[in-house]
Amino acid sequence: MEGRILFGKYEIGHLLGEGNFGKVYKGKNLTTEEIVAIKMMNKEEVKKHGMIEQVKKEISLMRLVKHPNIVELKEVMATKTKIYLVMEYVGGGDLYTKIVKQGRFEENLARKYFQQVITAVDFCHSRGVCHRDLKLENIMLDSNGDNVKICDFGLATFLVGKEENNNNNNNNNVDVLLYTACGAFAYMAPEIIRGERYDGKMADIWSCGVILYTLLAGYPPFQDESRTKMLRKIRVGKYEFPLGFPKEVEDLVKKILVRNPSERIIMSEIMTSPWFKKGLIYEGDLYSSLFCSSPDQSPFNAFDFMLSMASGLDLSGLFESHKRKLGTLFVTKCSIKEVMKKVEKMAEGLKYEARKEKESRVVLQGGEVGRRGRLVVSVEVFEVVSPVVKVVEFSKRGGDFIEYLKLMEEEVRPAMKDVVWKWQGDWSLRRNNNGDEDESFPWWNLCY
Ligand code: ADP
Repeated sequence: MEGRILFGKYEIGHLLGEGNFGKVYKGKNLTTEEIVAIKMMNKEEVKKHGMIEQVKKEISLMRLVKHPNIVELKEVMATKTKIYLVMEYVGGGDLYTKIVKQGRFEENLARKYFQQVITAVDFCHSRGVCHRDLKLENIMLDSNGDNVKICDFGLATFLVGKEENNNNNNNNNVDVLLYTACGAFAYMAPEIIRGERYDGKMADIWSCGVILYTLLAGYPPFQDESRTKMLRKIRVGKYEFPLGFPKEVEDLVKKILVRNPSERIIMSEIMTSPWFKKGLIYEGDLYSSLFCSSPDQSPFNAFDFMLSMASGLDLSGLFESHKRKLGTLFVTKCSIKEVMKKVEKMAEGLKYEARKEKESRVVLQGGEVGRRGRLVVSVEVFEVVSPVVKVVEFSKRGGDFIEYLKLMEEEVRPAMKDVVWKWQGDWSLRRNNNGDEDESFPWWNLCY
């Protein structure tokens, strides 16, 4: 692979490592010279292992959580057989390898890494995302060893909002509890091992406790040669602190590694605990990053958020061998009626026939016969996030690809401008090596 150019945009460098679904290469953006990591996955391989859902999740979650301490997903591209995830390059290796090599971390450095991990995890939680596989192997260091970056959202699960739950005695409105057992055993919360329904956020907090202990002790709190015995130790919460473990941290670890999740310390309490707050030079960043990234406050983030939601609904087109429909999206705050009215008015002006298939979907058909017959475009409004904010999807059902793009650029964009809050972002048309023009669009174009 080394030396190959991908989509005319990235030069492939050496192999960085191999994961479950493919190889990760170093790469360079030829225009900006930015160094990136490119994960190459074989669609067939992913499909064969029934891991489509997991990959879909990884893609949409990584798009959703942009934070200085989370590995950024920059772009997703695909060909007929492969998926390429272009990620931020993190040069310092992972914390697990580091600890194995050099032993435990000194208290101030451990605190700094822990503060960053907590900030990132809390950020994810504020966006309804649990990581569920937090472990030292998934925490990478930048090249200077100054900052950590969490990676691998492969097992993360989306909290699908709030749900009534009568079993909860404190509050009727609790996060949907997660069932699936996953994650590395040593970091796994006891409620998962007990096979109970569990709250992903509280399980993440437990894993953070294991991480904190390991950073300062140089080994994990629960270990045994026999896995059964190790799981038993976690279930009963049996662990000891080594000599010289800082006293103040012991108190914090004890509050985190509490068997009953409802008695476990919560994120805000960790963040205000005396040991955590010490030397917190990130406080400003921490809170500003939390506020700025609230989906309600920034249209761009809100947009990203909705695209992730939309892709979460159906990314299946990405993995199908038949040619996908080409889609284009925008976000609107207008009502379905207002959007439909605009679409119908546009159709009238263009002399397109408009056929309503349902309240939220209309199909437009061009009068003129183009290169591949008449252009047929469907327009559908999805209430993916809330009844207030909707995603409008245009997709080509028939006709020529270039004519469709031309229609979108020259007619649809200007005609829709009053109802558009934000378009999906401009993309450029690129051709891959086979001259296939529609294979290298940003990922959301592959979703439909
Ligand atoms: P897994 O599937 O086991 O979680 P990944 O596919 O995420 O592993 O990554 C495999 C290896 O590639 C990692 O162990 C790491 O060495 C390297 N790697 C992954 N992502 C990056 C990145 N963003 N920057 C640098 N190296 C990376």
